Amino acid sequence: MNILSIISIFAQSNIAYSTHSTSGYNYTYILLFIGIAVISYLVQWNLNSKFNKFSKMPLGNGMTGRDIAEKMLHDNGIYDVKVISTPGQLTDHYNPTNKTVNLSEGVYNSTSIAAAAVAAHECGHAVQHATQYAPLTMRSKLVPVVSFASNWITWILLIGIFTVESFPQILLGGIILFATTTLFSFVTLPVEIDASRRALAWLQEAGITNNNNHSAASSALRSAAYTYVVAALSSLATLIYYIMIYLGRRD
Ligand SMILES: [Zn+2]
Repeated sequence: MNILSIISIFAQSNIAYSTHSTSGYNYTYILLFIGIAVISYLVQWNLNSKFNKFSKMPLGNGMTGRDIAEKMLHDNGIYDVKVISTPGQLTDHYNPTNKTVNLSEGVYNSTSIAAAAVAAHECGHAVQHATQYAPLTMRSKLVPVVSFASNWITWILLIGIFTVESFPQILLGGIILFATTTLFSFVTLPVEIDASRRALAWLQEAGITNNNNHSAASSALRSAAYTYVVAALSSLATLIYYIMIYLGRRD
């Protein structure tokens, strides 16, 4: 839940109070947003505790995150993607513009199961890029739209909520911008789930994981996927909330 949702709930409560036009659903939404905040917290906590646990569990073959990433790329016939180390924690990502798999320092040098799972997942994105996996292509096309939207969205929605009775067009514009970010978070789901699926299949086929530790790698990646699912549902709930405000205005 972001600060904008809180402000808009209070702003809308005032409008509802002054006009008596939109009372009931505000409380439903306050409860829903609190529910989403609690679930987001639990999902994040679960992810952190899984990663802490599996970061201490050695893979057993001595391969670092970097070794895993390079092997998975080569096994998939990819030789033009570089594996580099990037500062920070959980900063791992694949960058399609310069074709680099960026592994956080903890993953790059680590020989743990968590490191193997993360490294293989990021290479899953490199494989998607190389094979022009459609949801990844769509996601990349949405990036400029979403970065434009996220610069303006807070202000447009905030002004839109306060002026909904006189200039509903502003809120409508904000809703359209917000909808692109919701779409983006849903397009992210198949991209993330497919990258993990490719990672786990390869880890098993290449004999990197075995019967004893494969379920740990799978569990770590599943926990990461839940955070994307919650983010998408949360974005959808927020979008519906703004649409309800728009539809609930007095004409
Ligand atoms: Zn990913």
